[in-house]
Amino acid sequence: MKTRPLHWQEPATAPCPGCNGTGEWSGMFSSGPCAACDGTGLVAEDGEPLDMRDLLAIMRRQRDRHGDRFRRLWHTPGVPEAVERHRQQQQQNERDQHAERKRQLRGA
Ligand SMILES: [Zn+2]
Repeated sequence: MKTRPLHWQEPATAPCPGCNGTGEWSGMFSSGPCAACDGTGLVAEDGEPLDMRDLLAIMRRQRDRHGDRFRRLWHTPGVPEAVERHRQQQQQNERDQHAERKRQLRGA
Protein backbone atom coordinates (compact mmCIF):
# COMPACT_ATOMS: atom_id res chain seq x y z
CA MET A 1 0.00 0.00 0.00
CA LYS A 2 1.27 3.42 -0.92
CA THR A 3 1.50 5.68 2.08
CA ARG A 4 1.22 9.40 1.80
CA PRO A 5 4.02 11.39 3.39
CA LEU A 6 3.18 12.88 6.77
CA HIS A 7 4.30 16.33 5.77
CA TRP A 8 3.34 17.54 2.37
CA GLN A 9 6.17 19.05 0.42
CA GLU A 10 5.65 21.27 -2.54
CA PRO A 11 6.98 19.30 -5.51
CA ALA A 12 9.59 20.89 -7.75
CA THR A 13 8.03 22.15 -10.94
CA ALA A 14 9.19 23.30 -14.33
CA PRO A 15 7.53 25.34 -17.07
CA CYS A 16 5.58 23.05 -19.36
CA PRO A 17 7.59 22.42 -22.54
CA GLY A 18 4.39 21.95 -24.54
CA CYS A 19 3.20 25.51 -24.04
CA ASN A 20 6.32 27.25 -22.70
CA GLY A 21 4.63 27.69 -19.35
CA THR A 22 1.69 29.68 -20.66
CA GLY A 23 -0.89 26.95 -20.07
CA GLU A 24 -2.44 27.87 -23.40
CA TRP A 25 -2.44 25.76 -26.47
CA SER A 26 -3.19 27.52 -29.70
CA GLY A 27 -3.65 25.90 -33.04
CA MET A 28 -4.40 27.32 -36.42
CA PHE A 29 -8.14 27.72 -35.87
CA SER A 30 -8.69 27.44 -32.16
CA SER A 31 -7.03 27.60 -28.77
CA GLY A 32 -7.57 26.25 -25.29
CA PRO A 33 -5.89 24.91 -22.17
CA CYS A 34 -2.68 22.97 -22.87
CA ALA A 35 -3.33 19.23 -22.60
CA ALA A 36 0.23 18.41 -21.48
CA CYS A 37 -0.08 20.44 -18.26
CA ASP A 38 -3.87 20.67 -17.82
CA GLY A 39 -3.66 24.37 -18.61
CA THR A 40 -1.53 25.22 -15.59
CA GLY A 41 1.72 25.90 -17.44
CA LEU A 42 3.54 23.70 -14.92
CA VAL A 43 4.86 20.16 -15.03
CA ALA A 44 6.90 18.09 -12.61
CA GLU A 45 10.67 18.13 -12.94
CA ASP A 46 10.54 14.95 -15.00
CA GLY A 47 8.18 16.62 -17.47
CA GLU A 48 5.14 14.61 -16.36
CA PRO A 49 1.87 16.34 -15.46
CA LEU A 50 1.56 17.13 -11.77
CA ASP A 51 -0.73 15.23 -9.44
CA MET A 52 -4.02 17.11 -9.17
CA ARG A 53 -3.81 17.18 -5.37
CA ASP A 54 -0.34 18.74 -5.50
CA LEU A 55 -1.47 21.17 -8.15
CA LEU A 56 -4.39 22.39 -6.10
CA ALA A 57 -2.15 22.92 -3.08
CA ILE A 58 0.45 24.77 -5.16
CA MET A 59 -2.21 27.04 -6.64
CA ARG A 60 -3.73 27.74 -3.26
CA ARG A 61 -0.29 28.73 -1.95
CA GLN A 62 0.32 30.99 -4.93
CA ARG A 63 -3.04 32.65 -4.45
CA ASP A 64 -2.23 33.30 -0.78
CA ARG A 65 1.20 34.67 -1.65
CA HIS A 66 -0.29 37.06 -4.20
CA GLY A 67 -2.90 38.17 -1.68
CA ASP A 68 -0.19 38.86 0.92
CA ARG A 69 1.89 40.78 -1.58
CA PHE A 70 -1.08 42.90 -2.57
CA ARG A 71 -1.97 43.65 1.07
CA ARG A 72 1.63 44.60 1.87
CA LEU A 73 1.80 46.82 -1.19
CA TRP A 74 -1.47 48.49 -0.28
CA HIS A 75 -0.14 49.29 3.20
CA THR A 76 3.07 50.80 1.86
CA PRO A 77 3.09 54.53 2.65
CA GLY A 78 2.16 56.58 -0.41
CA VAL A 79 0.62 53.76 -2.42
CA PRO A 80 -3.09 54.36 -1.63
CA GLU A 81 -2.53 58.08 -2.24
CA ALA A 82 -0.84 57.41 -5.58
CA VAL A 83 -3.71 55.12 -6.62
CA GLU A 84 -6.24 57.78 -5.65
CA ARG A 85 -4.30 60.45 -7.61
CA HIS A 86 -4.21 58.16 -10.63
CA ARG A 87 -7.95 57.52 -10.34
CA GLN A 88 -8.71 61.24 -10.17
CA GLN A 89 -6.41 61.94 -13.10
CA GLN A 90 -8.25 59.33 -15.15
CA GLN A 91 -11.60 60.87 -14.27
CA GLN A 92 -10.27 64.28 -15.27
CA ASN A 93 -9.02 62.86 -18.57
CA GLU A 94 -12.45 61.38 -19.23
CA ARG A 95 -14.11 64.72 -18.52
CA ASP A 96 -11.64 66.46 -20.82
CA GLN A 97 -12.28 63.95 -23.61
CA HIS A 98 -16.01 64.30 -23.14
CA ALA A 99 -15.80 68.08 -23.31
CA GLU A 100 -13.58 67.85 -26.38
CA ARG A 101 -16.08 65.55 -28.13
CA LYS A 102 -18.92 67.92 -27.31
CA ARG A 103 -16.93 70.81 -28.73
CA GLN A 104 -16.24 68.87 -31.91
CA LEU A 105 -19.93 67.98 -32.30
CA ARG A 106 -20.95 71.63 -31.88
CA GLY A 107 -18.31 72.77 -34.33
CA ALA A 108 -19.38 70.31 -37.01
ZN1 LIG B 1 1.41 23.12 -21.12
